[in-house]
Amino acid sequence: MALLQIVEQNQDQVKYKNKLAIGIDLGTTNSMVASVVNNTNIILTDKDNNATLPSVIHCGKDKITVGKDSYSYMSLDPTNTITSVKRFVGRSYQEISQAKNLPYKIKAQDNNNILFKTQAGDFSIVELLSIILSSLKKRAEKYFGDEVNLAVITVPAYFNDSQRQATKDAAILAGLKVMRLLNEPTAAAVAYGLETDKEGIHVVYDLGGGTFDISVLNFTKGVFKVLATGGDSTLGGDDFDQLIIDDCINSFKLKNLTAEDIQTIKQLSRKAKEDLSNNKLAKFTFKKNEYIISLEKFELLIKDLINRSLLLTKKAIRDSKINISDVKDVIMVGGSTRIPLIRKMIGELFNKPVLSNINPDEVVAKGAATQANILAGNKSEKDILLLDVLPLSLGLETMGGLVEKVIHRNTTIPIVKAKEFTTFKDGQTKMSIHILQGERELVKDCRSLAKFEFSGIPAMVAGSVRVRVEFQVDADGLLSVSASEETLGIKANTTIKPSYGLTDEDMKKMLKESVLFAKEDVLIRQLLEAQTDAKSVLIAIDSALEKDKDIIDKETFNNILEARNKLGKLVESQDIKKIKKAISNLEKTSASFIEMRMNNSIRKLMKGSYINEFE
Ligand code: ADP
Ligand code: MG
Repeated sequence: MALLQIVEQNQDQVKYKNKLAIGIDLGTTNSMVASVVNNTNIILTDKDNNATLPSVIHCGKDKITVGKDSYSYMSLDPTNTITSVKRFVGRSYQEISQAKNLPYKIKAQDNNNILFKTQAGDFSIVELLSIILSSLKKRAEKYFGDEVNLAVITVPAYFNDSQRQATKDAAILAGLKVMRLLNEPTAAAVAYGLETDKEGIHVVYDLGGGTFDISVLNFTKGVFKVLATGGDSTLGGDDFDQLIIDDCINSFKLKNLTAEDIQTIKQLSRKAKEDLSNNKLAKFTFKKNEYIISLEKFELLIKDLINRSLLLTKKAIRDSKINISDVKDVIMVGGSTRIPLIRKMIGELFNKPVLSNINPDEVVAKGAATQANILAGNKSEKDILLLDVLPLSLGLETMGGLVEKVIHRNTTIPIVKAKEFTTFKDGQTKMSIHILQGERELVKDCRSLAKFEFSGIPAMVAGSVRVRVEFQVDADGLLSVSASEETLGIKANTTIKPSYGLTDEDMKKMLKESVLFAKEDVLIRQLLEAQTDAKSVLIAIDSALEKDKDIIDKETFNNILEARNKLGKLVESQDIKKIKKAISNLEKTSASFIEMRMNNSIRKLMKGSYINEFE
């Protein structure tokens, strides 16, 4: 429904008309900025003509440096030199402090946010991201000789709500107005112009410095849809470097290496690896040892890692429920896909040559620039609508600690979806709206996003109030929830801003568990549902008997009471069948009484979901 209503972009166009706009690839290892200038998409370079801005920040006593200028500090001053900050987005203090070999000093700002303690002061993750974004903004302003505020920034397709929010916050801090957060694979597809004539399924294989992301996109009728995403957040060019580092250390039996030595070997190894994309041999000298590696040997070393990426690629294909032969294009993204063996092996898997004519480390920034140019209203042609999917289901807590899903995982966004809920008890005046994320059936197994109170309900019979809870996920993947009772004219709402997000490992774990425990969960759900039904029937019958027992004869009363007590004894039992039987027995026994009361609210109560009062 909402899919056809994305008119928002045109509204944006009025706002941004004919303005300078940039596209930013905020990468883990390298970041980049591009812009469409006189109809040409160009990468904006620094004063030394460097296209990439390494995502390295040195927070020195007197000065903060970003990019290549910070490289030397990685070995000289590792404690104050923060690399790959994007990796930390959405991670808790606990997770980061448990990571091995991190040379930084960190402290918890509050439960979920951390600060890097450096010589230049304490910095949050959002602040560090904003330092990179500021540097790119400045680069663009130097190029244009004018202020630049409008940007499209790319994020991994699997980034969740709070990780996207953190990226947006960082942009605001850097003085940028984010017209749209764009998924990295979608940006790559846009850069190749696949939206002009290539309807069909496209796979984006993105192997960067430290992460591997695979995305399956479907492009139809002017709409990009992410069918599936996958990958490994710990697989990338760094691992190839490590294989060379290990080989070098082993072959010279190097011992007692300092942290600086290791950094030096690391940089030499990376350079050797990059050389091997164009040469048959690479070499470097470390402390008078000359290390030589052949392409053949390098390929042997990295083969296992490439195979791992191939397995994950196949899995994403399976997840998207298509056949490998359905894939129209395979796009190479990320600096590591310059390695010829990778292109060859991926090409063989798909049985077609891969798309690699756009520089793989520039392709994301260029796609973002194309989109920025459209959103800024600098293009008259028809807009491309860019759609993504929700990575995890969103739902609400209902009675019995159950989760009722409102929007299912993999639903295309933006989307609006609503569900109706009702009161559990007579005279209930409040409802607790508890918003959850995850695939499992029980509240305790999902992630709590927010809780708010829906109050002001007049005291009425249970089941007679209809509260409509609406979930709205915007094009950037951000959620807002509102609740309303139309006949009574009550409204309440909230925008979800969790203090920190899930890592992709968390997300994978949640998805895995949802499959693993599916059977168990269904049973527990059925039991809890039966118990909840039983409780609500008991409450209803008790209140009815209390008020109106005079309208029935003694025998009917006793029969109802007997059936009621039978159910009362079973209500906490584990036997779903028995509970259900006792409910239906009580319903039958009390049917005439209920009818006499002309009150069908009990029958209503026997079905549907209830939200209990706020405790
Ligand atoms: P990210 O998306 O993680 O920010 P990039 O896409 O910029 O990173 O990729 C960075 C990685 O690409 C690094 O590991 C780098 O060594 C690797 N890389 C860059 N050029 C080459 C090359 N010519 N051959 C092999 N690897 C390369
Ligand atoms: Mg990248």
